[in-house]
Amino acid sequence: MRCAIIADIHANLQALEAVVADAREYGCEEFHVLGDVVGYNANPSECVEIVRTLPGVCVLGNHDSAVAGLEPLDHFSPSAISVLEWTRASLTDEQRDWLAALRPTRQIRTATLVHATLDSPTSWGYIRTSSAAEMSLACQRTPLCFFGHTHVPGIFVQGGREILLDEGVQLPPDQKFFINAGSVGQPRDGDWRASYLIHDEESAGLWLRRVEYNVQTARQAVLDAGLPVKLGDRLLIGL
Ligand code: ZN
Repeated sequence: MRCAIIADIHANLQALEAVVADAREYGCEEFHVLGDVVGYNANPSECVEIVRTLPGVCVLGNHDSAVAGLEPLDHFSPSAISVLEWTRASLTDEQRDWLAALRPTRQIRTATLVHATLDSPTSWGYIRTSSAAEMSLACQRTPLCFFGHTHVPGIFVQGGREILLDEGVQLPPDQKFFINAGSVGQPRDGDWRASYLIHDEESAGLWLRRVEYNVQTARQAVLDAGLPVKLGDRLLIGL
């Protein structure tokens, strides 16, 4: 089985469509989504509909949770709050109910899926270093755990190591890997192209894909929706 691992779509329809097409071209049969389907960009309703109909599962992200009304908005920045309120109004009741029903973690065969951290999945902590990954790795019961939330791809290994996730890697057996898929809809590693992973279960191969998409259309959609201009502009530089 070959799966696409997709995180932090953030209502970027152009990026999501490009990633799904790319993954299908590479033979992906399942699409697993690591949360934050909505927030920041201009097409939350369309992105929810695509994710709902993809074969695969989706876990809850912090933006999904806030839009679904599962938690207060007060720990978000003022510009994020305005987008979350706009997003809430853009979705149907049924779409908000779908977000509200997402679980914080799921297991698919040998892999666990979570948005932020495994030791406290709905505290929404950020894992950017191998030392920060230790708590999650200690809780990990499957060889692989895929996560998102920082919008920066990378692989953390127990024992304080980090593997460079550049193009393809072969995952050695008998180790645990805590793997960030980067972000489809708002990359923050200085590369504007949409980021996602292809996991080939039979060969234990993992590929980081960077996919070009129509970023000008996505930016214009942010402006047309009256969302903060800086959210459109940051798409162009991937930060
Ligand atoms: Zn996010």
